Amino acid sequence: MAKFNGDHIKLAIQKDGRLTEDTRALLRTVGLHFESYKQRLFSICRNFPLDILYVRDDDIPEYVAEGVVDLGIVGQNLVVESGTKVTELLPLNYGHCSLMVAVPAESGIENIQQLEGLKIATSYPLTTTKYFAEHKVNVNVITISGSVEITPALGVSSAIVDLVSTGSSLKLNDLVPIATVLDSQSSLIANPTSIENVYKKAIIDRLMTRFRGVLAAADYKYVMMNIPRSALEYVSTTTPGLKSPTVLPTADAEWMVVHTAIREDMFWDVIEKLKEHGAQGILVSSIEKMFV
Ligand code: AMP
Repeated sequence: MAKFNGDHIKLAIQKDGRLTEDTRALLRTVGLHFESYKQRLFSICRNFPLDILYVRDDDIPEYVAEGVVDLGIVGQNLVVESGTKVTELLPLNYGHCSLMVAVPAESGIENIQQLEGLKIATSYPLTTTKYFAEHKVNVNVITISGSVEITPALGVSSAIVDLVSTGSSLKLNDLVPIATVLDSQSSLIANPTSIENVYKKAIIDRLMTRFRGVLAAADYKYVMMNIPRSALEYVSTTTPGLKSPTVLPTADAEWMVVHTAIREDMFWDVIEKLKEHGAQGILVSSIEKMFV
């Protein structure tokens, strides 16, 4: 039977759920080689001192806090709900969702103060209780482990507190959101003692550099284009890239080739402006990893 490697640090990820596919993809993108198939409880990386444990995601904060594993990748919502002492190292920019208060559309309820004295169903009892206490609204929190969104129709609750990403599940059940308890995304968390261990810290730092490279790359597009010499100054200031764009001459003295990186959030505006300034043959590609 395969065994954990004593020199390896341990990372817990969700075995089977919403975060599983993106998490595995991220680990592979940062160059980790490991075998994974459904029945496995853990994988040993062949080319990095890391073992990956596949567990229920509700258990991840506890495993990390107790030192069963050094690291975990889990939704921030579960870290908050667990109330455990773990160190958040790096939000990973996927698994975005919000924990929201929602009520039946026909209820006429518009704010959380109107929930005073009513029953609220949720799978996040600790976060929910804390939220209403902070807002000084007395509610009766009922813990439900699944399908929270059907509880108002069943007469079990007057409102729910549940995770929402697109809102389609709320709509399907005739519910409308009235408040956000917290926003969440997938995140890398660590056992506080592990990051004080010099050996483990060095491995964790190497892993985080790789994660950061992938996260930074997602914010940019790589662009190559031909520009008339007259547009050079404009292009240099509009698309500064990481430091300044690379500008190369072409066989035609009036035209140059520019290589640069454009931020994803301003990409379309910049492309339109570049075209107005005479840019041609604009080639765009995604960047897989970026280290600045
Ligand atoms: P699940 O596999 O359904 O247990 O979800 C795993 C994690 O995915 C949750 O703990 C959240 O962090 C995240 N997530 C993102 N969007 C949603 C959503 N609409 N509903 C539930 N979880 C979500």
